[in-house]
Amino acid sequence: MKVLVVGAGFSGAVVARALALEGHEITVVDERRHVGGNCHTEPDEKSGIMVHIYGPHIFHTNNQAVWDYVNQFGRMMPYVNRVKARVGDQIYSLPINLHTINQVYQRAMSPDEAQAFLAEQGDSLIQTPRSFEEQALKFVGAKLYEMFFKGYTRKQWGVDGAQLPASILKRLPVRFVYDDNYFNHRFQGIPEAGYTDLISNILDCDRVTVRLGEKAEGRAQDFDHVVYSGPLDRYFQHDRGRLQYRTLSFEKFHHKGDFQGTAVMNYCDAHVPFTRISEHKYFAPWHTPDSDLSVCFREYSGHCGPQDIPFYPTRLLDDQKLLGEYVARANQEKNVTFLGRLGTYSYLDMDVTIERALETASAISANWKAGLAPPVFVHDP
Ligand SMILES: Cc1cc2nc3c(=O)[nH]c(=O)nc-3n(C[C@H](O)[C@H](O)[C@H](O)COP(=O)(O)OP(=O)(O)OC[C@H]3O[C@@H](n4cnc5c(N)ncnc54)[C@H](O)[C@@H]3O)c2cc1C
Repeated sequence: MKVLVVGAGFSGAVVARALALEGHEITVVDERRHVGGNCHTEPDEKSGIMVHIYGPHIFHTNNQAVWDYVNQFGRMMPYVNRVKARVGDQIYSLPINLHTINQVYQRAMSPDEAQAFLAEQGDSLIQTPRSFEEQALKFVGAKLYEMFFKGYTRKQWGVDGAQLPASILKRLPVRFVYDDNYFNHRFQGIPEAGYTDLISNILDCDRVTVRLGEKAEGRAQDFDHVVYSGPLDRYFQHDRGRLQYRTLSFEKFHHKGDFQGTAVMNYCDAHVPFTRISEHKYFAPWHTPDSDLSVCFREYSGHCGPQDIPFYPTRLLDDQKLLGEYVARANQEKNVTFLGRLGTYSYLDMDVTIERALETASAISANWKAGLAPPVFVHDP
């Protein structure tokens, strides 16, 4: 079969390779001038430091098969994400752990003492939290909520914690030990030569042609099937409206020597306009560039307009309704399969993206072998 794969991020690259290995002829198009999608990395022109252009990416997974998969295409270097937070003139350890609790309350509590203490701080009148704010007030109490979450959440999502679903706090666990590893996963790392190199290696395969700087629109008729990892609403020219995203913008600056002594510093105060600063030499300590310049990015979060890059799907109530309409229409389409963070309007970490792309390619192949049309969605949006 002749297949058009839209997008050269992890979704597109993994599907393209898997279908090419099954003997299909694949053309991958991406309107950007690089492969890698939002995971794209490239060396900074002044300092030589490998930079994560669309924001820091740390690979983390419990999935042995996915970990083995990425290791075929690039050497993964051990990397543990340890995030710091600035509140006022103090620096704290994140995610909230025993060190943070003892720092904030100027105590030397043991794990059991801290657990009992925090239970007392929580708002026991809240039975079933309806919002992120209530969830935080119930589990960590007003002080920690106001210091670490209130302003940061407002900046990140553009709405108050009281308007966000309670499920969001589950992403930031509170720990009653001194473990400050941001992720709990068994395998964690960053590719030695960067993500773009790794994804280029996935795409380096017989029967895969990559065309960069080209839009997908108007090409489908030359192919038997389209695998689409672009935005679902864009596929329908946004004719029922736009699914809402948050966008990010990055302000790059160079610093002679060391700027902040760590990879990521969150700025939790509401009056600071950016959410965090990342210093990229810390993502690749194995590189030893000649220059003593360090390259850093201030990260701002904002409403995503038509000309902005969509980053985080908001999935608020109105979006869910619109999403339902687009999904219903997509299900009427022939010869297209939607996947990935944009194609299914979902936040997906890289490991889940790869797992889903492999499953999508298997489902398409299996249907063809059985003489059936490929599924429109293998994973529900
Ligand atoms: C700021 C940020 C930080 C993140 N950090 C992490 C992390 O630390 N760890 C982790 O596991 N995950 C992280 N992620 C998630 C990670 O970025 C995604 O898992 C991954 O990018 C999804 O890959 P994808 O191929 O589905 O989408 P994308 O990478 O977005 O690729 C889609 C591609 O399709 C192209 N495209 C779209 N429409 C068209 C069209 N019509 N024509 C031509 N080309 C088109 C786009 O140009 C894009 O290159 C982070 C995400 C963000 C936003």
